[in-house]
Amino acid sequence: MARLYDSRKRILVTGGAGFVGSHLIDRLLEQGHEILCVDNLFTGAKRNIEHLHNHARLEFMRHDVCLPLYVEVDEIYNLACPASPIHYQHDPVQTTKTSVHGAINMLGLAKRVKAKIFQASTSEVYGDPSVHPQPEEYWGNVNPIGPRSCYDEGKRCAETLFFDYHRQHNLEIKVARIFNTYGPRMHPADGRVVSNFIVQALKGEPITIYGDGSQTRSFCYVDDLVDGFIRLMDTGPEVTGPINLGNPVEFTMIELAELVLEQTGSRSPLIRMPLPADDPKQRKPDITKAQTILGWQPKVPLAEGLKSTIDFFANRDR
Ligand code: NAD
Ligand code: UDP
Ligand code: UDP
Repeated sequence: MARLYDSRKRILVTGGAGFVGSHLIDRLLEQGHEILCVDNLFTGAKRNIEHLHNHARLEFMRHDVCLPLYVEVDEIYNLACPASPIHYQHDPVQTTKTSVHGAINMLGLAKRVKAKIFQASTSEVYGDPSVHPQPEEYWGNVNPIGPRSCYDEGKRCAETLFFDYHRQHNLEIKVARIFNTYGPRMHPADGRVVSNFIVQALKGEPITIYGDGSQTRSFCYVDDLVDGFIRLMDTGPEVTGPINLGNPVEFTMIELAELVLEQTGSRSPLIRMPLPADDPKQRKPDITKAQTILGWQPKVPLAEGLKSTIDFFANRDR
């Protein structure tokens, strides 16, 4: 339901042309806000917001968050950062710069205009966890020098910056630690497991199981995630996070492959491939905080979310 005109805010979404950001923009526009989408289109694409072309309350700005940005806004959602291993390892130095310089610039902007600022952090700050499921108090087990480090350590440093700006400059911050999320507008070729399996099944190609497929992930549907973002942003200044947002229902990669095969009716065989370096064995959020503080928990089961994701991939480019 649209909000009243007098509660309309001007909201900056960095990374707004990406998978999650474009869904967030859809929801914020529905609520009646004015949106400034800032994106350098490194992994995002204008087609993700094409359906909003000529929308009177959406402005798109092609800009790299590593550079300063002088605009006037009430709230900032900082999502700019490549999120899949293929993309963030393509130019790892740029990945760290995006997380760290991007955070500094957006925090500097938030400080100047006194805006609330949200950070899209990640479950990767927990690394290959030795505590399972992961509560926010767990400090993580991250390799600082491996191929995933540019992403993991960049996001960890961004969290440090958010909390230092909060303590030092009294900024109102909201840090969400996002666990694996899927849905329409995922990149078909970004190597993530849900998009890989769906694309492979639809093409009748072998489903690539890395390792023995017993590793687990918990998959959150993008609509549920966006709902969590907005609930977190709408909390009072005492709520800073970090707060886990994800779906606690765990699946092995074999179980995911079987579900995708069942739903697509595909006869693709499963094949084994080597496990990538530093690939976490298990990942599952402890969402007690999100449940108690935000009254949030995911509503869309994997079987249901997969249907709309499969529809998206099946109808893409047609
Ligand atoms: P995405 O790659 O689809 O979106 C990221 C967007 O940021 C893209 O549009 C890209 O062009 C833009 N971008 C990258 N570098 C930029 C820069 N320097 N300046 C401006 N824009 C830049 O990824 P996503 O899945 O939508 O992820 C969005 C955010 O959520 C990211 O910060 C990611 O780390 C975080 N996250 C996502 C997941 C997930 O499962 N999708 C999990 C944990 C965290
Ligand atoms: N910054 C920005 N937009 C603003 C204000 C600041 O992009 O509206 C950037 C600017 O590059 C600055 C950084 O944010 O270097 C950090 O700002 P802060 O005020 O914290 O520090 P300083 O200006 O002292 O470096
Ligand atoms: N994975 C897989 N086959 C693929 C792509 C990924 O078995 O084609 C595995 C991968 O090794 C990991 C899990 O699926 O254990 C999730 O991988 P993804 O890249 O989607 O997310 P992340 O590792 O960042 O959680």
